[in-house]
Amino acid sequence: MIHTRNLQKLFRRGNNEKYVLRNINIDIEEGEYVVFAGPSGSGKTTLLGLLGLVDIPSSGEIWFREQEITGLSERKRNRIRRDHIAFLFEEIHLIDELNVYENIELPLLYMPDSRKERRRKVEELLDRFRLTHLRKQYPGKFGDFVQQKVALARALSCSPDILYGDEPTGRLSSGEKEEFMELLRQLNEEGQTIALATHSREAARHGQRIIQLFDGHVVTTSSDRG
Ligand code: ADP
Ligand code: MG
Repeated sequence: MIHTRNLQKLFRRGNNEKYVLRNINIDIEEGEYVVFAGPSGSGKTTLLGLLGLVDIPSSGEIWFREQEITGLSERKRNRIRRDHIAFLFEEIHLIDELNVYENIELPLLYMPDSRKERRRKVEELLDRFRLTHLRKQYPGKFGDFVQQKVALARALSCSPDILYGDEPTGRLSSGEKEEFMELLRQLNEEGQTIALATHSREAARHGQRIIQLFDGHVVTTSSDRG
C-alpha cells in the first residue's frame, strides 16, 4: 500500500545540514501492523510525516497505492490524506468546544455521507469503544485514556486505508497502554492497516513487524508478533 524508494530527509539550519532520514526503503502492505521502533531522535516522527503526506521528502519516492505522490500538488496530496489517512498522536488533539459525538463526527462532515449514514457510523464507533454514555459530554474533562479512545474513534470514522500513530500511548498508564494496544490489535485483526511509531519496547512488541530505526537509518526489520 505504501512503498518508499531511497527516501531521504535533510534539515538545514544555517550552514548546518543534517540527514534525519537516510535511504529509507520500506513497504507496508494492506492489512499489516508495522511498528517503527527506535530511540528518541532516530527519525520516527519525521518518517510518519512523510508517509502520512504531511511533509515532503528531500529526495526519493513515496508510493501510495499505485501512485507516486511526491510529485503531486499540495492540493492533491491533502486530498489523498483527507480521504485515506488517519493519525493519532501522543498529544491528543480533540476539540474542546465539541462534545464526544461531534468530535467523532467531524471528519465525516467533509465526506459525501448522508446525515443518516453519518449517524450510523458515529453510533457504531461510540458503541465499539464504550463511549455511548459520554456522547453528549465535552472531552476536556476526561482522562487521557478516554480522550485517546475518542481520538481513535474519530480517526476511524472515515474508514482510513491506513492508521498512523505517533507514540499514541505515551501519556497513558501501563494498564491503559495495554488496553489501548489491545484495541489496536483487534482493529488490525479485522483488517485495519496500522503503522505505529514508538520508542517503547513494550509497545513495539505488539506489531506484526518491527522496523528498527537508528540515526535515520533502518537498521533491522523483524517479523515477530509477541
Ligand atoms: P523521533 O520521532 O524518532 O524522536 P524525529 O523525527 O522527531 O525523531 O527527529 C529526528 C531528528 O530530526 C532529531 O535530531 C530532530 O532534532 C531532527 N528534526 C526534526 N524536525 C526537525 C526540523 N524541523 N528542523 C531541524 N531538525 C529537525
Ligand atoms: Mg517522535
